[in-house]
Amino acid sequence: MTSFEDSLLYIDGRFVPAKSGKKYPNIGPTTGEVIGYAADGSTEDMDAAIAAARRAFDGSTWSTDRELRLKVLTQFREGLHANRERIKAMAMAEAGSPVGCLAGPQCDAPISFVDFVLETLRTFAFERELPVANTMGVPSRRLVWKEAAGVVGAITPWNVPLQINLAKCFPALAAGCTVILKPAPETPWLATVLAEIADKTDMPPGVFNVITSAMPAAVGEQLVVDPRVDMISFTGSTGVGRRIMAVASEQVKKVFLELGGKSAFIVLDDADFERVIPTSAFFVLYHAGQGCASFTRLLVPRARYEEAIGMLKTAFEAFPYTDPTSEHQIMGPLISERQRERVLGYVKIGQEEGARLVTGGGVPEGLKGFYVQPTVFADVHNGMRIAQEEIFGPVLVVIPHDGDDDAVRIANDSIFGLSGGVASASNKRALAVARRIRTGTYSVNGGNYFAADTPFGGYKQSGIGREMGIEGFEEYLQTKSVAIPA
Ligand code: NAD
Repeated sequence: MTSFEDSLLYIDGRFVPAKSGKKYPNIGPTTGEVIGYAADGSTEDMDAAIAAARRAFDGSTWSTDRELRLKVLTQFREGLHANRERIKAMAMAEAGSPVGCLAGPQCDAPISFVDFVLETLRTFAFERELPVANTMGVPSRRLVWKEAAGVVGAITPWNVPLQINLAKCFPALAAGCTVILKPAPETPWLATVLAEIADKTDMPPGVFNVITSAMPAAVGEQLVVDPRVDMISFTGSTGVGRRIMAVASEQVKKVFLELGGKSAFIVLDDADFERVIPTSAFFVLYHAGQGCASFTRLLVPRARYEEAIGMLKTAFEAFPYTDPTSEHQIMGPLISERQRERVLGYVKIGQEEGARLVTGGGVPEGLKGFYVQPTVFADVHNGMRIAQEEIFGPVLVVIPHDGDDDAVRIANDSIFGLSGGVASASNKRALAVARRIRTGTYSVNGGNYFAADTPFGGYKQSGIGREMGIEGFEEYLQTKSVAIPA
Protein backbone atom coordinates (compact mmCIF):
# COMPACT_ATOMS: atom_id res chain seq x y z
CA MET A 1 0.00 0.00 0.00
CA THR A 2 1.14 3.55 -0.73
CA SER A 3 2.41 5.29 2.38
CA PHE A 4 1.65 8.93 3.02
CA GLU A 5 3.70 11.39 5.01
CA ASP A 6 2.02 13.41 7.74
CA SER A 7 0.55 16.50 6.08
CA LEU A 8 1.24 20.06 7.26
CA LEU A 9 -0.64 23.34 7.04
CA TYR A 10 0.17 25.70 4.17
CA ILE A 11 0.25 29.33 5.25
CA ASP A 12 1.83 32.27 3.44
CA GLY A 13 3.76 30.05 1.05
CA ARG A 14 5.24 27.80 3.75
CA PHE A 15 4.43 24.34 5.08
CA VAL A 16 4.13 24.50 8.86
CA PRO A 17 2.89 22.22 11.64
CA ALA A 18 -0.07 23.39 13.71
CA LYS A 19 1.04 25.98 16.30
CA SER A 20 -0.21 23.63 19.00
CA GLY A 21 1.95 20.85 17.54
CA LYS A 22 -1.16 18.67 17.33
CA LYS A 23 -2.01 16.30 14.51
CA TYR A 24 -4.94 13.98 14.04
CA PRO A 25 -5.32 10.53 12.47
CA ASN A 26 -6.65 10.12 8.96
CA ILE A 27 -8.86 7.01 8.94
CA GLY A 28 -9.14 5.02 5.70
CA PRO A 29 -12.81 4.20 4.94
CA THR A 30 -11.97 0.99 3.11
CA THR A 31 -10.10 -0.52 6.05
CA GLY A 32 -11.18 1.51 9.06
CA GLU A 33 -7.49 1.86 9.91
CA VAL A 34 -5.25 4.87 10.45
CA ILE A 35 -3.54 5.64 7.14
CA GLY A 36 -1.53 8.64 8.34
CA TYR A 37 -1.81 11.99 10.11
CA ALA A 38 -2.75 15.56 9.26
CA ALA A 39 -1.87 18.77 11.10
CA ASP A 40 -4.69 19.75 13.45
CA GLY A 41 -5.00 23.47 12.77
CA SER A 42 -6.55 25.72 15.40
CA THR A 43 -8.07 29.18 15.31
CA GLU A 44 -4.56 30.59 15.80
CA ASP A 45 -3.39 28.91 12.59
CA MET A 46 -6.50 30.02 10.75
CA ASP A 47 -5.85 33.57 11.89
CA ALA A 48 -2.37 33.44 10.33
CA ALA A 49 -3.80 32.04 7.08
CA ILE A 50 -6.43 34.77 6.87
CA ALA A 51 -3.80 37.44 7.52
CA ALA A 52 -1.60 35.98 4.77
CA ALA A 53 -4.44 35.82 2.24
CA ARG A 54 -5.47 39.38 3.05
CA ARG A 55 -1.87 40.64 2.66
CA ALA A 56 -1.51 38.80 -0.63
CA PHE A 57 -4.73 40.26 -1.97
CA ASP A 58 -4.00 43.83 -0.90
CA GLY A 59 -0.25 43.83 -1.37
CA SER A 60 0.59 41.71 -4.42
CA THR A 61 -0.34 42.10 -8.08
CA TRP A 62 -2.23 38.79 -8.08
CA SER A 63 -5.69 40.35 -8.33
CA THR A 64 -4.79 42.65 -11.22
CA ASP A 65 -2.12 40.80 -13.22
CA ARG A 66 -3.96 38.40 -15.51
CA GLU A 67 -0.73 37.31 -17.25
CA LEU A 68 0.79 36.28 -13.92
CA ARG A 69 -2.31 34.28 -13.07
CA LEU A 70 -2.28 32.58 -16.46
CA LYS A 71 1.37 31.63 -16.06
CA VAL A 72 0.99 30.34 -12.50
CA LEU A 73 -2.25 28.46 -13.08
CA THR A 74 -0.79 26.82 -16.18
CA GLN A 75 2.06 25.61 -13.94
CA PHE A 76 -0.59 24.47 -11.44
CA ARG A 77 -2.31 22.49 -14.20
CA GLU A 78 0.98 20.77 -15.06
CA GLY A 79 1.44 19.93 -11.38
CA LEU A 80 -1.98 18.31 -11.28
CA HIS A 81 -1.11 16.11 -14.24
CA ALA A 82 2.26 15.21 -12.73
CA ASN A 83 0.60 14.20 -9.44
CA ARG A 84 -2.26 12.25 -10.96
CA GLU A 85 -1.21 8.85 -9.61
CA ARG A 86 -0.62 10.19 -6.09
CA ILE A 87 -3.99 11.89 -6.16
CA LYS A 88 -5.63 8.63 -7.17
CA ALA A 89 -3.90 6.82 -4.32
CA MET A 90 -5.10 9.49 -1.89
CA ALA A 91 -8.67 9.40 -3.21
CA MET A 92 -8.75 5.65 -2.67
CA ALA A 93 -7.09 5.78 0.72
CA GLU A 94 -8.78 8.72 2.43
CA ALA A 95 -12.06 9.23 0.50
CA GLY A 96 -12.70 5.49 0.01
CA SER A 97 -13.04 5.94 -3.73
CA PRO A 98 -13.30 2.69 -5.65
CA VAL A 99 -11.15 2.51 -8.79
CA GLY A 100 -14.24 2.90 -10.99
CA CYS A 101 -14.78 6.47 -9.72
CA LEU A 102 -11.21 7.68 -10.37
CA ALA A 103 -11.74 8.45 -14.04
CA GLY A 104 -14.78 10.51 -13.05
CA PRO A 105 -15.18 13.02 -10.22
CA GLN A 106 -12.54 11.57 -7.90
CA CYS A 107 -9.58 12.42 -10.14
CA ASP A 108 -9.40 12.59 -13.93
CA ALA A 109 -12.51 14.68 -14.55
CA PRO A 110 -11.61 17.54 -12.19
CA ILE A 111 -8.03 17.60 -13.47
CA SER A 112 -9.29 17.95 -17.03
CA PHE A 113 -11.87 20.58 -15.99
CA VAL A 114 -9.18 23.16 -15.11
CA ASP A 115 -8.51 23.62 -18.83
CA PHE A 116 -11.90 25.28 -19.19
CA VAL A 117 -11.06 27.71 -16.38
CA LEU A 118 -7.73 28.56 -18.01
CA GLU A 119 -9.50 29.19 -21.31
CA THR A 120 -12.05 31.37 -19.52
CA LEU A 121 -9.23 33.38 -17.94
CA ARG A 122 -7.68 33.83 -21.40
CA THR A 123 -10.86 34.98 -23.08
CA PHE A 124 -13.11 36.52 -20.42
CA ALA A 125 -14.16 40.16 -20.97
CA PHE A 126 -13.15 41.71 -17.65
CA GLU A 127 -14.03 45.18 -19.00
CA ARG A 128 -16.73 46.48 -21.28
CA GLU A 129 -17.91 49.93 -22.29
CA LEU A 130 -21.54 50.99 -22.49
CA PRO A 131 -22.71 53.67 -24.94
CA VAL A 132 -22.88 57.31 -23.79
CA ALA A 133 -25.89 57.98 -21.59
CA ASN A 134 -27.33 61.32 -20.54
CA THR A 135 -29.68 60.49 -17.74
CA MET A 136 -29.40 63.67 -15.64
CA GLY A 137 -27.72 66.23 -17.87
CA VAL A 138 -24.19 64.75 -17.68
CA PRO A 139 -23.44 62.85 -20.90
CA SER A 140 -21.23 60.02 -19.68
CA ARG A 141 -19.29 57.06 -20.91
CA ARG A 142 -19.79 54.06 -18.65
CA LEU A 143 -17.16 51.40 -18.05
CA VAL A 144 -18.09 48.11 -16.41
CA TRP A 145 -15.17 46.34 -14.74
CA LYS A 146 -15.18 42.84 -13.36
CA GLU A 147 -12.84 42.65 -10.38
CA ALA A 148 -11.73 39.90 -8.04
CA ALA A 149 -14.15 39.38 -5.13
CA GLY A 150 -11.27 39.44 -2.60
CA VAL A 151 -10.21 36.93 0.02
CA VAL A 152 -12.21 33.71 -0.36
CA GLY A 153 -12.78 31.15 2.40
CA ALA A 154 -13.42 27.82 0.64
CA ILE A 155 -15.05 25.21 2.90
CA THR A 156 -15.44 21.76 1.38
CA PRO A 157 -16.88 18.29 2.14
CA TRP A 158 -15.35 14.83 1.98
CA ASN A 159 -17.34 13.04 -0.70
CA VAL A 160 -15.56 14.13 -3.90
CA PRO A 161 -12.82 16.28 -2.38
CA LEU A 162 -10.59 16.89 -5.39
CA GLN A 163 -13.54 17.84 -7.58
CA ILE A 164 -14.97 20.31 -5.09
CA ASN A 165 -11.63 21.73 -3.93
CA LEU A 166 -10.66 22.44 -7.53
CA ALA A 167 -14.10 23.63 -8.62
CA LYS A 168 -13.80 26.35 -5.97
CA CYS A 169 -10.11 27.19 -5.76
CA PHE A 170 -9.18 27.18 -9.44
CA PRO A 171 -11.79 29.70 -10.65
CA ALA A 172 -11.34 31.79 -7.49
CA LEU A 173 -7.60 32.02 -8.13
CA ALA A 174 -8.15 32.62 -11.85
CA ALA A 175 -10.51 35.48 -11.03
CA GLY A 176 -7.75 37.09 -8.95
CA CYS A 177 -8.95 36.14 -5.49
CA THR A 178 -6.72 34.81 -2.75
CA VAL A 179 -7.93 31.64 -1.05
CA ILE A 180 -7.95 29.84 2.27
CA LEU A 181 -9.08 26.25 1.71
CA LYS A 182 -10.54 24.43 4.70
CA PRO A 183 -11.28 20.83 3.70
CA ALA A 184 -13.42 18.39 5.65
CA PRO A 185 -11.45 16.76 8.49
CA GLU A 186 -11.99 13.34 6.87
CA THR A 187 -10.12 14.26 3.66
CA PRO A 188 -7.15 16.52 4.45
CA TRP A 189 -4.72 15.24 1.83
CA LEU A 190 -6.76 15.99 -1.24
CA ALA A 191 -6.44 19.60 -0.12
CA THR A 192 -2.81 19.62 1.03
CA VAL A 193 -1.74 18.01 -2.25
CA LEU A 194 -3.00 21.18 -3.95
CA ALA A 195 -0.76 23.21 -1.63
CA GLU A 196 2.20 21.04 -2.66
CA ILE A 197 1.40 21.73 -6.29
CA ALA A 198 0.87 25.47 -5.73
CA ASP A 199 4.15 25.65 -3.84
CA LYS A 200 6.08 24.53 -6.93
CA THR A 201 4.64 27.36 -9.03
CA ASP A 202 5.52 31.07 -9.13
CA MET A 203 2.46 31.93 -7.05
CA PRO A 204 3.10 34.80 -4.62
CA PRO A 205 3.08 33.72 -0.94
CA GLY A 206 -0.32 33.92 0.74
CA VAL A 207 -2.35 33.61 -2.44
CA PHE A 208 -3.31 30.03 -1.58
CA ASN A 209 -3.46 28.62 1.95
CA VAL A 210 -4.71 25.31 3.33
CA ILE A 211 -5.80 24.72 6.92
CA THR A 212 -6.67 21.17 7.92
CA SER A 213 -8.33 20.70 11.26
CA ALA A 214 -10.16 18.11 13.33
CA MET A 215 -12.34 20.94 14.72
CA PRO A 216 -14.42 21.83 11.69
CA ALA A 217 -17.00 24.11 13.24
CA ALA A 218 -14.63 26.43 15.13
CA VAL A 219 -12.05 26.81 12.39
CA GLY A 220 -14.60 26.86 9.55
CA GLU A 221 -16.80 29.41 11.24
CA GLN A 222 -13.80 31.64 11.86
CA LEU A 223 -13.62 32.18 8.09
CA VAL A 224 -17.24 33.29 8.12
CA VAL A 225 -16.84 35.60 11.12
CA ASP A 226 -13.54 37.26 10.22
CA PRO A 227 -14.08 40.59 8.42
CA ARG A 228 -10.82 40.16 6.47
CA VAL A 229 -12.53 37.39 4.46
CA ASP A 230 -14.70 38.85 1.69
CA MET A 231 -16.53 35.76 0.53
CA ILE A 232 -17.39 32.23 1.62
CA SER A 233 -17.62 29.48 -0.96
CA PHE A 234 -19.15 26.51 0.81
CA THR A 235 -20.16 23.00 -0.21
CA GLY A 236 -21.71 20.77 2.39
CA SER A 237 -24.91 20.00 4.20
CA THR A 238 -27.91 22.30 4.17
CA GLY A 239 -27.79 22.54 7.97
CA VAL A 240 -24.26 23.95 8.01
CA GLY A 241 -25.12 26.10 4.97
CA ARG A 242 -27.98 27.72 6.90
CA ARG A 243 -25.64 28.41 9.81
CA ILE A 244 -23.02 29.96 7.51
CA MET A 245 -25.62 32.18 5.89
CA ALA A 246 -26.92 33.34 9.27
CA VAL A 247 -23.44 34.13 10.61
CA ALA A 248 -22.36 35.79 7.35
CA SER A 249 -25.41 38.04 7.43
CA GLU A 250 -23.86 40.03 10.31
CA GLN A 251 -21.40 41.48 7.80
CA VAL A 252 -23.56 41.00 4.71
CA LYS A 253 -20.72 38.79 3.52
CA LYS A 254 -21.04 37.26 0.08
CA VAL A 255 -21.90 33.56 0.37
CA PHE A 256 -21.94 30.95 -2.33
CA LEU A 257 -23.59 27.75 -1.15
CA GLU A 258 -23.71 24.27 -2.70
CA LEU A 259 -25.86 22.20 -0.38
CA GLY A 260 -27.75 18.95 -0.12
CA GLY A 261 -30.22 17.19 -2.40
CA LYS A 262 -32.93 14.55 -2.57
CA SER A 263 -33.19 14.24 -6.31
CA ALA A 264 -36.01 12.34 -8.01
CA PHE A 265 -35.64 10.09 -11.03
CA ILE A 266 -39.00 9.89 -12.82
CA VAL A 267 -39.84 6.88 -14.97
CA LEU A 268 -42.79 7.63 -17.25
CA ASP A 269 -45.18 4.89 -18.35
CA ASP A 270 -43.77 4.69 -21.90
CA ALA A 271 -40.16 4.16 -20.75
CA ASP A 272 -38.21 0.99 -21.50
CA PHE A 273 -38.38 -0.50 -17.99
CA GLU A 274 -35.88 -3.32 -18.63
CA ARG A 275 -33.23 -0.79 -19.57
CA VAL A 276 -34.12 2.14 -17.32
CA ILE A 277 -35.06 0.68 -13.93
CA PRO A 278 -31.70 -1.04 -13.31
CA THR A 279 -29.85 2.24 -14.04
CA SER A 280 -31.32 3.50 -10.76
CA ALA A 281 -28.79 1.25 -9.05
CA PHE A 282 -25.97 3.09 -10.79
CA PHE A 283 -27.42 6.50 -9.90
CA VAL A 284 -27.73 5.81 -6.18
CA LEU A 285 -24.86 3.38 -5.58
CA TYR A 286 -22.15 5.46 -7.28
CA HIS A 287 -19.64 6.17 -4.48
CA ALA A 288 -22.13 4.51 -2.09
CA GLY A 289 -24.68 7.30 -2.58
CA GLN A 290 -22.33 9.93 -1.20
CA GLY A 291 -23.19 12.37 -3.94
CA CYS A 292 -25.23 15.50 -3.45
CA ALA A 293 -26.84 14.97 -6.87
CA SER A 294 -27.53 11.22 -6.50
CA PHE A 295 -31.02 10.22 -7.65
CA THR A 296 -32.21 8.89 -4.32
CA ARG A 297 -35.97 8.95 -4.97
CA LEU A 298 -37.30 6.77 -7.78
CA LEU A 299 -40.82 7.59 -9.02
CA VAL A 300 -42.45 4.79 -11.03
CA PRO A 301 -45.96 4.37 -12.50
CA ARG A 302 -48.28 2.85 -9.92
CA ALA A 303 -49.53 0.22 -12.38
CA ARG A 304 -46.02 -1.24 -12.73
CA TYR A 305 -44.78 -0.63 -9.20
CA GLU A 306 -44.26 -4.24 -8.09
CA GLU A 307 -42.63 -5.12 -11.40
CA ALA A 308 -40.15 -2.28 -10.87
CA ILE A 309 -39.47 -3.35 -7.27
CA GLY A 310 -38.64 -6.87 -8.50
CA MET A 311 -36.17 -5.50 -11.05
CA LEU A 312 -34.55 -3.28 -8.44
CA LYS A 313 -34.14 -6.14 -6.00
CA THR A 314 -32.28 -8.13 -8.64
CA ALA A 315 -30.12 -5.16 -9.70
CA PHE A 316 -29.20 -4.08 -6.15
CA GLU A 317 -28.42 -7.60 -4.97
CA ALA A 318 -26.13 -8.19 -7.96
CA PHE A 319 -24.32 -4.84 -7.62
CA PRO A 320 -20.60 -5.38 -6.94
CA TYR A 321 -18.96 -3.53 -4.03
CA THR A 322 -16.55 -5.85 -2.26
CA ASP A 323 -13.38 -5.11 -4.26
CA PRO A 324 -12.55 -1.39 -4.41
CA THR A 325 -9.48 -2.17 -6.54
CA SER A 326 -11.61 -3.51 -9.40
CA GLU A 327 -11.94 -1.02 -12.22
CA HIS A 328 -15.51 -2.23 -12.71
CA GLN A 329 -16.52 -1.16 -9.23
CA ILE A 330 -18.11 2.21 -8.50
CA MET A 331 -19.51 1.58 -5.04
CA GLY A 332 -17.21 1.65 -2.05
CA PRO A 333 -17.56 2.22 1.69
CA LEU A 334 -19.04 5.21 3.49
CA ILE A 335 -16.56 7.80 4.66
CA SER A 336 -16.65 7.03 8.38
CA GLU A 337 -18.22 4.99 11.15
CA ARG A 338 -20.24 8.09 12.07
CA GLN A 339 -21.66 8.31 8.55
CA ARG A 340 -22.44 4.59 8.57
CA GLU A 341 -24.31 4.98 11.84
CA ARG A 342 -26.26 7.85 10.30
CA VAL A 343 -27.25 5.77 7.27
CA LEU A 344 -28.22 2.77 9.42
CA GLY A 345 -30.24 5.18 11.55
CA TYR A 346 -32.25 6.13 8.46
CA VAL A 347 -32.84 2.45 7.65
CA LYS A 348 -34.38 2.13 11.11
CA ILE A 349 -36.43 5.30 10.60
CA GLY A 350 -37.73 3.95 7.27
CA GLN A 351 -38.87 0.73 8.91
CA GLU A 352 -40.50 2.62 11.78
CA GLU A 353 -42.31 4.80 9.25
CA GLY A 354 -43.81 1.66 7.70
CA ALA A 355 -41.73 1.42 4.52
CA ARG A 356 -40.91 -2.07 3.22
CA LEU A 357 -37.22 -2.99 3.23
CA VAL A 358 -36.85 -4.83 -0.09
CA THR A 359 -33.16 -5.56 0.15
CA GLY A 360 -30.04 -4.49 2.07
CA GLY A 361 -30.25 -2.25 5.10
CA GLY A 362 -27.40 -3.90 6.96
CA VAL A 363 -23.64 -4.16 7.24
CA PRO A 364 -22.11 -6.77 4.93
CA GLU A 365 -20.09 -9.50 6.58
CA GLY A 366 -16.37 -9.96 6.04
CA LEU A 367 -15.46 -6.39 5.04
CA LYS A 368 -13.35 -4.25 7.33
CA GLY A 369 -14.36 -0.80 6.04
CA PHE A 370 -17.46 1.30 6.62
CA TYR A 371 -19.74 -0.52 4.17
CA VAL A 372 -23.53 -0.62 4.04
CA GLN A 373 -25.38 -3.02 1.72
CA PRO A 374 -27.16 -1.59 -1.34
CA THR A 375 -30.60 -0.83 0.05
CA VAL A 376 -34.08 -0.41 -1.46
CA PHE A 377 -37.23 0.75 0.32
CA ALA A 378 -40.70 0.21 -1.21
CA ASP A 379 -44.13 1.39 -0.03
CA VAL A 380 -42.71 4.84 0.50
CA HIS A 381 -44.79 7.98 0.33
CA ASN A 382 -43.20 11.35 -0.20
CA GLY A 383 -44.08 12.64 3.26
CA MET A 384 -41.84 10.12 5.01
CA ARG A 385 -38.52 11.29 6.42
CA ILE A 386 -36.66 8.77 4.23
CA ALA A 387 -38.22 10.52 1.20
CA GLN A 388 -37.56 14.06 2.41
CA GLU A 389 -34.19 13.97 4.18
CA GLU A 390 -30.78 13.47 2.67
CA ILE A 391 -29.41 10.09 3.74
CA PHE A 392 -26.09 10.28 1.85
CA GLY A 393 -25.74 6.52 1.59
CA PRO A 394 -26.61 3.62 -0.77
CA VAL A 395 -30.34 3.85 -0.08
CA LEU A 396 -33.06 4.18 -2.72
CA VAL A 397 -36.69 4.97 -1.89
CA VAL A 398 -39.32 4.01 -4.47
CA ILE A 399 -42.53 6.01 -4.71
CA PRO A 400 -45.51 5.29 -7.02
CA HIS A 401 -46.90 8.04 -9.27
CA ASP A 402 -50.16 8.42 -11.20
CA GLY A 403 -48.94 10.04 -14.41
CA ASP A 404 -46.75 12.94 -15.51
CA ASP A 405 -48.46 15.67 -13.50
CA ASP A 406 -48.38 13.62 -10.33
CA ALA A 407 -44.73 12.68 -10.87
CA VAL A 408 -43.77 16.35 -11.30
CA ARG A 409 -45.72 17.27 -8.17
CA ILE A 410 -43.95 14.59 -6.09
CA ALA A 411 -40.51 15.42 -7.50
CA ASN A 412 -40.97 19.11 -6.63
CA ASP A 413 -42.36 18.35 -3.18
CA SER A 414 -38.97 18.72 -1.49
CA ILE A 415 -37.02 21.46 0.28
CA PHE A 416 -34.17 20.59 -2.10
CA GLY A 417 -33.76 21.35 -5.79
CA LEU A 418 -30.37 20.11 -6.87
CA SER A 419 -30.85 17.56 -9.64
CA GLY A 420 -33.03 14.82 -11.07
CA GLY A 421 -33.85 12.89 -14.17
CA VAL A 422 -36.64 11.57 -16.32
CA ALA A 423 -36.97 8.56 -18.64
CA SER A 424 -39.51 8.31 -21.46
CA ALA A 425 -39.75 6.87 -24.97
CA SER A 426 -40.34 10.44 -26.10
CA ASN A 427 -37.72 13.15 -25.69
CA LYS A 428 -40.47 15.72 -26.20
CA ARG A 429 -42.51 14.37 -23.32
CA ALA A 430 -39.41 14.06 -21.13
CA LEU A 431 -38.33 17.64 -21.91
CA ALA A 432 -41.81 18.86 -20.97
CA VAL A 433 -41.29 17.27 -17.56
CA ALA A 434 -37.78 18.78 -17.29
CA ARG A 435 -39.21 22.29 -17.79
CA ARG A 436 -41.52 21.87 -14.82
CA ILE A 437 -38.94 20.54 -12.36
CA ARG A 438 -37.48 23.06 -9.89
CA THR A 439 -33.85 21.93 -9.83
CA GLY A 440 -30.52 23.38 -10.97
CA THR A 441 -29.49 20.39 -13.09
CA TYR A 442 -31.49 17.74 -14.91
CA SER A 443 -30.89 14.60 -16.95
CA VAL A 444 -33.27 13.73 -19.77
CA ASN A 445 -33.20 10.12 -20.97
CA GLY A 446 -29.75 9.46 -19.55
CA GLY A 447 -28.09 12.69 -20.67
CA ASN A 448 -25.05 13.60 -18.54
CA TYR A 449 -24.67 17.26 -17.58
CA PHE A 450 -21.44 16.82 -15.56
CA ALA A 451 -18.82 18.79 -17.51
CA ALA A 452 -16.45 21.71 -16.99
CA ASP A 453 -18.64 24.18 -18.85
CA THR A 454 -21.97 23.15 -17.29
CA PRO A 455 -23.05 25.33 -14.37
CA PHE A 456 -23.89 23.18 -11.36
CA GLY A 457 -25.96 24.16 -8.34
CA GLY A 458 -29.31 24.18 -6.69
CA TYR A 459 -32.73 25.77 -6.47
CA LYS A 460 -34.45 26.15 -3.09
CA GLN A 461 -32.47 24.87 -0.08
CA SER A 462 -29.90 23.15 -2.32
CA GLY A 463 -27.97 26.38 -2.48
CA ILE A 464 -27.24 29.81 -3.85
CA GLY A 465 -25.00 30.31 -6.88
CA ARG A 466 -23.42 28.03 -9.45
CA GLU A 467 -20.16 26.11 -9.56
CA MET A 468 -18.30 25.40 -12.82
CA GLY A 469 -19.08 26.87 -16.23
CA ILE A 470 -18.79 30.61 -16.86
CA GLU A 471 -21.23 31.15 -13.98
CA GLY A 472 -18.84 29.35 -11.63
CA PHE A 473 -16.08 31.78 -12.63
CA GLU A 474 -18.25 34.87 -12.28
CA GLU A 475 -19.12 33.93 -8.68
CA TYR A 476 -15.63 35.09 -7.74
CA LEU A 477 -15.97 38.52 -9.36
CA GLN A 478 -17.41 41.83 -8.25
CA THR A 479 -18.85 44.33 -10.72
CA LYS A 480 -17.75 47.98 -10.68
CA SER A 481 -19.47 50.58 -12.87
CA VAL A 482 -17.38 53.68 -13.61
CA ALA A 483 -18.59 56.83 -15.36
CA ILE A 484 -16.59 59.65 -17.02
CA PRO A 485 -18.01 62.69 -18.84
CA ALA A 486 -18.31 61.96 -22.56
P1 NAD B 1 -20.89 19.25 6.37
O1 NAD B 1 -21.87 20.31 6.11
O2 NAD B 1 -20.93 18.53 7.66
O3 NAD B 1 -19.41 19.85 6.27
C1 NAD B 1 -18.95 20.54 5.13
C2 NAD B 1 -17.76 21.40 5.50
O4 NAD B 1 -18.17 22.39 6.44
C3 NAD B 1 -16.64 20.62 6.16
O5 NAD B 1 -15.41 21.16 5.74
C4 NAD B 1 -16.86 20.93 7.63
O6 NAD B 1 -15.67 20.79 8.36
C5 NAD B 1 -17.32 22.37 7.58
N1 NAD B 1 -18.11 22.84 8.73
C6 NAD B 1 -18.83 22.12 9.62
N2 NAD B 1 -19.46 22.95 10.48
C7 NAD B 1 -19.13 24.21 10.12
C8 NAD B 1 -19.48 25.51 10.61
N3 NAD B 1 -20.29 25.69 11.66
N4 NAD B 1 -18.97 26.59 9.98
C9 NAD B 1 -18.17 26.47 8.92
N5 NAD B 1 -17.79 25.26 8.41
C10 NAD B 1 -18.27 24.14 9.00
O7 NAD B 1 -20.99 18.25 5.12
P2 NAD B 1 -20.20 16.90 4.90
O8 NAD B 1 -20.78 15.89 5.84
O9 NAD B 1 -18.73 17.15 4.90
O10 NAD B 1 -20.62 16.56 3.38
C11 NAD B 1 -21.84 16.00 3.04
C12 NAD B 1 -22.83 17.08 2.65
O11 NAD B 1 -22.32 17.88 1.59
C13 NAD B 1 -24.12 16.53 2.12
O12 NAD B 1 -25.20 17.21 2.68
C14 NAD B 1 -24.07 16.81 0.62
O13 NAD B 1 -25.29 16.92 -0.03
C15 NAD B 1 -23.30 18.06 0.58
N6 NAD B 1 -22.68 18.22 -0.74
C16 NAD B 1 -23.21 19.14 -1.60
C17 NAD B 1 -22.66 19.29 -2.86
C18 NAD B 1 -23.22 20.29 -3.83
O14 NAD B 1 -22.52 20.65 -4.75
N7 NAD B 1 -24.43 20.76 -3.67
C19 NAD B 1 -21.58 18.52 -3.24
C20 NAD B 1 -21.07 17.59 -2.35
C21 NAD B 1 -21.62 17.46 -1.09
